[in-house]
Amino acid sequence: MSLPLLFGPYGYDAVDTIDRFATYGANALWFHGFNPSGFEACRKHRIAACVEFKTFRADFDTRPELIPIGVDGRPIRYGRLVQGVCLSQHAFLEEVREELILGIRTFQPVGIWLDYLTYAGWFETPKPDLQEGCFCPDCIADFCQATGLDATTPEQILRNAANRWTRHKCERVARLATEYAELIRTHLPECIVGAYMCPWTPDEFDGALRRIFAQDYTLLAPAIDVFTPLIYAKKSGRPAAWGRDFLDQMPRFIPQDRRVQLILDAMDYPDSLLAAADARNPSWGIQIFGGAQVFADPQHAQVFRSAAEHIRQRAAEIAESGPSFR
Ligand SMILES: [Zn+2]
Repeated sequence: MSLPLLFGPYGYDAVDTIDRFATYGANALWFHGFNPSGFEACRKHRIAACVEFKTFRADFDTRPELIPIGVDGRPIRYGRLVQGVCLSQHAFLEEVREELILGIRTFQPVGIWLDYLTYAGWFETPKPDLQEGCFCPDCIADFCQATGLDATTPEQILRNAANRWTRHKCERVARLATEYAELIRTHLPECIVGAYMCPWTPDEFDGALRRIFAQDYTLLAPAIDVFTPLIYAKKSGRPAAWGRDFLDQMPRFIPQDRRVQLILDAMDYPDSLLAAADARNPSWGIQIFGGAQVFADPQHAQVFRSAAEHIRQRAAEIAESGPSFR
């Protein structure tokens, strides 16, 4: 499947400026969930409707059974922002699956980006509180069954089989991603399947991309067409050129035949976009989180247009040169 280059804002509130998208080089709108108004606005203005679909995230106050169990046998610490759930909670996973099926039977999005496709934690911060999990009895039993190992406590697992534990978590997430992708592709064969990703390289924070968040690019690649790392520079205490640096490094850890499309934060605009547009390996389109404000301001929108044009040219060069160019 040849993947279109999609550019535009993330956030339903950007529909207020959707009539200007085409003028400023945007051809897509990403919004949360299967929002009928989002689809209608996109249809009317011939803009690609893309859904951000929430997978493993819930309100822990109302769903305490979903809170993963930490290494001390107690529910993990968490603050206002947290993602990830105990993946042995089958009733919850069934709810997610049913919501996805209802959406893809009702609407025809151009793309669906799976969000929160991770184990528990929060990475949009300079100093993340990284915790191992989930060590509930069901998750430990699942690990033992899958690996043939006989472990009963978190200490035993982390001392004797830490790598196998990490791999097992990554496989669980990838298996669910595959299940969602198969549902989407069965109902909507043309639909792009994207995934929002922890934006860290595999070695940062002692391997936390896989060790904590259980996101393994190679295992996820069969399910995911477009990987979208969340490049929120200010929120994460990183420089504006973070996205460009990510793109420059990606051949090291992302399978060659997969596309990477950054989501940048309007808080970092326009510096992060200008830097990303300069990357050797182009971002396969761009999303701007909170992008409504970019398109409401003609000067900012003009910058978007120029950057998108530049990225399109780079992408065309890459396409002509073949995948080995990367
Ligand atoms: Zn669990």
